[in-house]
Amino acid sequence: MHCSSRGAAGASLATGAQGQRGLRGVLVTVPVVSAPAATTLPAPTHEGCCVPRQGVRAAAKAKSGGSGGGAAAKGFGAAKAPAPGKDTCACGSKIVYRECCEPYHAGAAVPPDVEAALRARFCGFVKGRVPYLLSTFHPHYHAFKYGTEAGGAAKQLERDLETAVSRFKYSGFKVLETAPGSHSDEAFITFRYNSVAKTRAVRPTGDSFVAETNFDGTAKVSTTIERSRFLRDPASGGQWLFADYTLIDYPTWMEEAKQAELRARGEAGAGAGAGGSA
Ligand SMILES: [Zn+2]
Repeated sequence: MHCSSRGAAGASLATGAQGQRGLRGVLVTVPVVSAPAATTLPAPTHEGCCVPRQGVRAAAKAKSGGSGGGAAAKGFGAAKAPAPGKDTCACGSKIVYRECCEPYHAGAAVPPDVEAALRARFCGFVKGRVPYLLSTFHPHYHAFKYGTEAGGAAKQLERDLETAVSRFKYSGFKVLETAPGSHSDEAFITFRYNSVAKTRAVRPTGDSFVAETNFDGTAKVSTTIERSRFLRDPASGGQWLFADYTLIDYPTWMEEAKQAELRARGEAGAGAGAGGSA
């Protein structure tokens, strides 16, 4: 997520609540297109959480799909399942926050791969962890977003983050696709999230910010699909940092997903270009 004037998202969630203009309240249930994982760093501590998504999925499936919990729990999370009704981490891992993204936010651990980095950022938006969010922007983001030299807009970025976390609520995070970049220290990750203005932030007059509402006056929930680019930065101990993003509109994303699926199945027709990926 980034930081724009409207909700934040991309755990790239750069800064911002920008959801509003995105998909206008479409609560999409997007079919997940599986993609090759982009990274391979070891995942020491937080298995089950911000770790390879295959594992997360398996664990999630094991938990929701049957309380029996037998098979799929191959080393992931079974023992960490929160008690029924207990809050799970906002990153969607189905693990409690304490054992999931909190160690990252507290600086006690570093997300082991790009998806974990994205999840931790999204969770940071939900929980308002501004210092953590600030520390996980690549210096390039400043140039991308504000047109300054790399790292040159720290104050503005902080203000935008404060706005994004205080004025918007985020939910519905889901990773849609992870893909390697042009070199081993670059990765792309596509995800979606919902944002909605907190009503208490709306002021009747004198503020340029006005929450979008539905006809009945309730706050409008926006869904954003964002493709973020992360770069692994040697200067920060090899951490994956959020560099920049593009927003993807839902119909476009659906069409691309369909084509990718056709390619994966080896069906012709997905021809228009493209070297298929595996
Ligand atoms: Zn988490």
